Amino acid sequence: MTTRPEILRRSASVALGLALAVAGTLAGARQPSVDREDQEFARSVREWTTRPEFLSPLVDHLPLAPGVPSPKDVIGHHVGAPKKLSYYAEILGYYRALAASSPRVKLMTIGRSDEGRELVVVAVSSEEAIRDLEAYRKFLAQLADPRTLSEVQARDIIVKAKPVYHVMGGLHSAETGPPEMLMELAYRLAVEDSPLIRQIRDNVIVTITPVAEPDGRDRYVDWYYAYKADETGENDTYGGPPYWGKYVFHDNNRDINYSQVTTRALLDWYLQWHPPVMHDIHESVPFLYTFSGQPPQNPNLDPILYAELPWHAEFEVAQMVKYGMPGVWTHAFVDMWSPGYFAGMASNHNGMLRMYEVFGNGGANTMERKVDRSEGPRPGGQTTREWYRPLPPYREVEWSIRNNVNYAETGILTALQLTAAFPRVVLESFYLKSRHAIESGRTEAPFGYVIPAGQPDMTRAAFFVNVLRAQGIEVGRARADVKLKEGTFPAGSFIVKRDQPYGRLAKMLLERQSYPDPNLRTYDDSAWTMGLMTGTEVRESADLDVLNVPVEPVTEARVQGVWSGGQPGSAGMIAVAADGSASLITLRYRLKDLKIEAAEKPFKSGGAELPAGSFLIAASQNGAPVAEKVRSAVEELGLRAIVLPARPDVPTHDLRLPRLAVYSTWGSTQEVGWVRYAFDKYEVPYDLIFKERVRKGNLRADYDIIVMPSQGGSARRLVFDIEPKAKPLSYRKSERFKSFGMYGESDDIAGGMGLAGAAEFQKFVEGGGVLITLGAASYFPAEYGITRRVDAGRPSAQFYAPGPIVEAEVLQGEHPVFYGYTRKVLPVRYANGPLLRVPDADTSQVLMQFPGGERSVLSGLMRGAGEISKRPAIVDVPVGAGRVVLFASNPCYRWQNLGEFNLLFNALLHLGSRQ
Ligand SMILES: [Zn+2]
Repeated sequence: MTTRPEILRRSASVALGLALAVAGTLAGARQPSVDREDQEFARSVREWTTRPEFLSPLVDHLPLAPGVPSPKDVIGHHVGAPKKLSYYAEILGYYRALAASSPRVKLMTIGRSDEGRELVVVAVSSEEAIRDLEAYRKFLAQLADPRTLSEVQARDIIVKAKPVYHVMGGLHSAETGPPEMLMELAYRLAVEDSPLIRQIRDNVIVTITPVAEPDGRDRYVDWYYAYKADETGENDTYGGPPYWGKYVFHDNNRDINYSQVTTRALLDWYLQWHPPVMHDIHESVPFLYTFSGQPPQNPNLDPILYAELPWHAEFEVAQMVKYGMPGVWTHAFVDMWSPGYFAGMASNHNGMLRMYEVFGNGGANTMERKVDRSEGPRPGGQTTREWYRPLPPYREVEWSIRNNVNYAETGILTALQLTAAFPRVVLESFYLKSRHAIESGRTEAPFGYVIPAGQPDMTRAAFFVNVLRAQGIEVGRARADVKLKEGTFPAGSFIVKRDQPYGRLAKMLLERQSYPDPNLRTYDDSAWTMGLMTGTEVRESADLDVLNVPVEPVTEARVQGVWSGGQPGSAGMIAVAADGSASLITLRYRLKDLKIEAAEKPFKSGGAELPAGSFLIAASQNGAPVAEKVRSAVEELGLRAIVLPARPDVPTHDLRLPRLAVYSTWGSTQEVGWVRYAFDKYEVPYDLIFKERVRKGNLRADYDIIVMPSQGGSARRLVFDIEPKAKPLSYRKSERFKSFGMYGESDDIAGGMGLAGAAEFQKFVEGGGVLITLGAASYFPAEYGITRRVDAGRPSAQFYAPGPIVEAEVLQGEHPVFYGYTRKVLPVRYANGPLLRVPDADTSQVLMQFPGGERSVLSGLMRGAGEISKRPAIVDVPVGAGRVVLFASNPCYRWQNLGEFNLLFNALLHLGSRQ
């Protein structure tokens, strides 16, 4: 034990005079009146902290506040106690008790999670600020959209306003410390009377998302108590539960289109409150990494952001180094390229995304951790001393959840210290970034985007217009034809003007991503261009006149279906056009009781042209007219129907509803989750099956089609999945573990389907079933010999393709999977699936291929694009009485590539019925 605290206290008193001005030094850390502090807290925290230098003067004490409950008063122990994790209800219970007893705390309900848990934001500030919260909210709203503000008015607001600094934890359920820490932070901010905390209270409104994924929190805490509380070390781990939230796992931090209810609820709140900073606390690297936005950086965002990110981060590094805390660093980890991270909602809206990674043990057990596991020519990993890591983490360490709490809370208090010292700087930057965003729309082309009306399928255009609208981007509908130097666009076209507060965000989402340097790696996707992802035409305009196009503001884009030809006679047929809408499959299921056929070729009837794949529905079925039922569904789904006097002369097949299953491993449920989400949204019913069902055998008795979403990364992992543990990993609901057994049940999730399971898939296919494998799951049929002539390779080590959008060339345009697609070359998100190859004799099985090469990269980065040249993107292989359709791409990716969804949906509609 060093005498560090004494040193700090001494330097504190020396610095006191200065510190009160900015609360910027150690002096602000604490109040000397020891009798008002919780001595037991100080003792416990010292005991739970594994080394003295892992504690700081900001968090080594906790004031007693008569009448205001500390976390211990509600949850029964101090935050960071070994082997204790709090359930969401306990956490909410604490904030509710705190808000009920302190006029400095207010709890707001912002929605409900997928599983019905209440979503809240907790505000902590001075009594005055909490009382006048609404006034402060309005100040920020004005700065966020300064179009009607004069410079003088803006200055006046900046003087009166306070920055809202939003902090959140628990987005990733295995990252268990921050939701515990935030309770202590809220209490400390509400009751501590040190100069530092007073200054934060006076100058900042702190808002907190206690747990960003509450459903996953409860499931993970259940799992922790069921299995992980017994873990003794990092080599003795029981992994995590098969699910966090209902659909997605870690990708809740990649939900660029805000599909999940919890992400959307916070976005809606954000757009009401406009916090200039959103700070998301995660766990991974040692001991605390503070994000500063390293390259590649998205050039659309304001240069101010790229200057203030390192300013904030370096202040934390400097302060925490001063406290003697090792392992606090910045740079060299996460970059600022993708706008799809959860807290990116702030930087995308002219605020600031801030992020920590704190070291964690995936639970609350104290354990020895080997931090430096790197090998090779330059060992050290994240433990080397660098310019951005002046006091590196230790290579081996005993680590506890209290260490984690100490680091995260000290970091956040330090972040708040800077904001409280410079509130007007933060507000001014926020205001200027908002203003610059509007101005750049008038000075930097493109000045706007046109989504032309009259595209065969407008439902996909409406989808992304609504995603833009959800993010507060203004979209208008042209009142008349629009003449721009790029061409003339029909009345009703959607217009996105760039001279608006979120005009830069619109550009970022709609443009093609031009990756700055192929030698830079990026943390997530390199491309997300919405028009390409949805297969919709979007035109950039470099014509300033686009800003003056008269428009009707769009609240929500809705596509009304079209019904032509009036009332059918009893011999009449209703044709529903396969124009490319993914909602066609929804129509099939909404009309599940009707007999529907699909035209196998394009045909004309009267003046109408209908593409291959169009539905044909007899207007009278079993003696009853069905037109009204069809009509209301067609209109609601935005489809196009034409009444024909009689059956057209075109070959057809019946669209029988396939008995459909989705296969999921237990260890890799995320990509499965996105497919489930898409199926649920499009009302496609399916059974979610696991190894338990596969091993029972006779899959063909129950299913016509089994979809195997991308999972596991390799065939071996897909087959063998989670390694068996010393005790079975039961995922069954019980009185004690109520969150288990959702979305599937198992007595032991370990072990995988094994070779016996692989053989069952082979029998299924040979017996006439259709197996559809997506992305990495396509290694499975190739490597386990179900499609014995298909080879599945991997690219070279130089190849690097972080989710670019590339061209794919349709080779078998008549095949049903291409119904509704009119182009020969489609934009496809590259999914890093297998590099497939078939023998020359089988090339007719290749439905689509990647032309490859630099010129085929439409958006984002693919390094070594020649390696995918002429590699199949989709192969349809007959096997026995059935078939396997292998996608090297992932046609159902993260609720993003709607333009590809129909490649899968068509397979479901048409391949199962052909058996
Ligand atoms: Zn995380």
